Amino acid sequence: MENFESIISLVSFFDTEDKCLKYLEQKRWKNGPICPHCSHHKAYRFKDGKRFKCASCRKQYTAKIGTIFEDSKIPLQKWFVAIYLLTGHKKGISSHQLAKDIQVTQATAWFMLQRVRFGLGFDNTLDEKLEDIVEVDETFVGGKNKNRHHDKKVKNSQGGHLKTKLQY
Ligand SMILES: [Zn+2]
Repeated sequence: MENFESIISLVSFFDTEDKCLKYLEQKRWKNGPICPHCSHHKAYRFKDGKRFKCASCRKQYTAKIGTIFEDSKIPLQKWFVAIYLLTGHKKGISSHQLAKDIQVTQATAWFMLQRVRFGLGFDNTLDEKLEDIVEVDETFVGGKNKNRHHDKKVKNSQGGHLKTKLQY
């Protein structure tokens, strides 16, 4: 997996939203998509390449659903930069600073920091961080469903979704 030497290499690698989403998809589902609504393994990919339709519950989803990136219009590139900055600054980063660095409002930056810290473990790379975040998230959203075999997974187990409205 990619290790980013600098913020420049990160930003130029994740130059489109599609690339970010693909990356998230790979991080999250190493063996193909799993429905965040019912944990079913079979899904149809839409022609746009981003959305899936579950073959079981027929609901649509993307790799963002059930993660900290859900329910926000903040581009994934900004999220990834925020994670990168947070992991790079051992003493943390203020929402004021983050807002300036990635050009969002301070309220949005604060919200992002809250979400990213939710999956925090210092001393790891962006890759590890993303994995942590996806794992913590699925624990939070899916009640530790992640490691179960799909037919043993608890249905409709997604717990509290983070539904914060955003301004930026
Ligand atoms: Zn489903």
